[in-house]
Amino acid sequence: MKKIENYIDGKYIAPIKNNWLDNYNPAKGEVYSQIPDSSSEDIELAYKAASNAFLSWSATSLQERSTILLKIAKLIKENLEELAIAEAIDNGKPLTLARSVDIPRASDNFQFFAHAITQFASEAHESSGFNAINFTLRHPIGVVGCISPWNLPLYLFTWKIAPALAAGNTVIAKPSEITPMTAYLLGEICTKAGLPKGVLNIVHGLGAKAGQAIVAHPQVKAISFTGGTVTGAHIAKIAAPLFKKLSLELGGKNPNLIFADCDYDRMLETTLKSSFSNQGQICLCGSRILVEKSIYERFKNDFIAKTKALKIGQPLDKDTNIGALVSKPHLEKVKRYIDDANAEGGKVLCGGEYVTIVDHKKGYYLQPTIIEVSDPRCRLVQEEIFGPVVTIMPFDNDEEALELANDVRYGLSCTIWTNNLNRSMKMAKHIDAGIVWVNTWMMRDLRTPFGGIKDSGVGREGGFEALRFFTEPKNVCIQY
Ligand code: NDP
Repeated sequence: MKKIENYIDGKYIAPIKNNWLDNYNPAKGEVYSQIPDSSSEDIELAYKAASNAFLSWSATSLQERSTILLKIAKLIKENLEELAIAEAIDNGKPLTLARSVDIPRASDNFQFFAHAITQFASEAHESSGFNAINFTLRHPIGVVGCISPWNLPLYLFTWKIAPALAAGNTVIAKPSEITPMTAYLLGEICTKAGLPKGVLNIVHGLGAKAGQAIVAHPQVKAISFTGGTVTGAHIAKIAAPLFKKLSLELGGKNPNLIFADCDYDRMLETTLKSSFSNQGQICLCGSRILVEKSIYERFKNDFIAKTKALKIGQPLDKDTNIGALVSKPHLEKVKRYIDDANAEGGKVLCGGEYVTIVDHKKGYYLQPTIIEVSDPRCRLVQEEIFGPVVTIMPFDNDEEALELANDVRYGLSCTIWTNNLNRSMKMAKHIDAGIVWVNTWMMRDLRTPFGGIKDSGVGREGGFEALRFFTEPKNVCIQY
């Protein structure tokens, strides 16, 4: 059985206390590797390595930092197949998805920020009447912490690490304990690319132990976190008295607003993806489908038929549309929501049952599920389920659509399907969300700000926003 180790100071090493955790293959429901159960001692070791490396890395020229990041991007591409297989086995996602989206995007993250940092200029202005000029210096912060979830493991891990490194920081990063494998492989890639030792340190282990030790470390000056809203609130409580910079990308319960005047076929295809890609385990999934009454029945029937045609299978099969959910506790949590649907006034229109796959009988498979709801305040509509489960309900007019769309504690993203420009603009302006897509879903341009409002988080990453987060601005005023 493969044992993976922490990557600290450019070397793979066992956790100091020699404690290990089991890592499961969700497609088979079996333990297939062991990972470090790191403690605060391991975080301290990583901190020392990162701190020692900071002076030299922050003084390294932009061009040299950029060149190293580009090499990492290239090596990720060269190792795409190995990484995609590792991701599919570790997470349960279809290999086709890991190969076409997750791993290419990890490479793109490094490539994008390698270029972005060379274009990241700061502002200057004259203070008129004072013969003075003001300009802004942007310094790297120091040692920063990056903590990422299990749903898009390498994609989100590198989304944080790449800008942090590009901006001249050194990093302690913790991937989710549930999906550590591609982060582990990234260490070797960084060494091969010539990233100096100690610049990136990858520590594995439990969130409440290893993750929390990063957040509580007094010298780790900024935390970029993506994960659940409850964890985000907990992290904020620990970080606030230490005056850390915080970026929190948290949960979502995103509306998918479908108007009768949309391009129906494109909407239907994309809605299938925005509902069930990655088994619905994407923070941007459109899990609340709201449909204009005049096309509600037509949509309902077509959507059910398309959903039933999705192929549930083991992640490495090339025909699989829906793989395994990430863990047994998560599978059971999602199933409980479905089982409670009746009591909540919901009606399961299709799916809702566990699935047994030949040769993978212990795997965590669940049918994609559509639940028709009538009460917009029920738990199915209000809480993030984070699985292959969507709710659908009709609306009468624009006002009602907007009211329903905004009637949750979250505000991450929204999709609007309409060919009416005025309507799309009105909706986009008034929707509570950090990201609004019109007639598309999850089209990500890395230059755009990414993040949510309300309980979906604080701060923005992406483009120059990420470089702003990972640098400390300093105003210099010179009178002449
Ligand atoms: P969690 O909040 O459980 O965990 C996220 C990460 O934080 C993991 O690495 C976890 O470690 C770690 N962690 C847990 N507790 C602590 C703690 N006390 N201190 C420090 N770190 C901790 O989320 P999930 O992994 O379950 O991910 C799913 C959630 O992520 C969903 O709510 C989803 O919406 C959200 N998400 C948000 C995105 C966004 O951009 N807004 C994008 C993707 C997902 P471990 O797993 O080892 O316990």
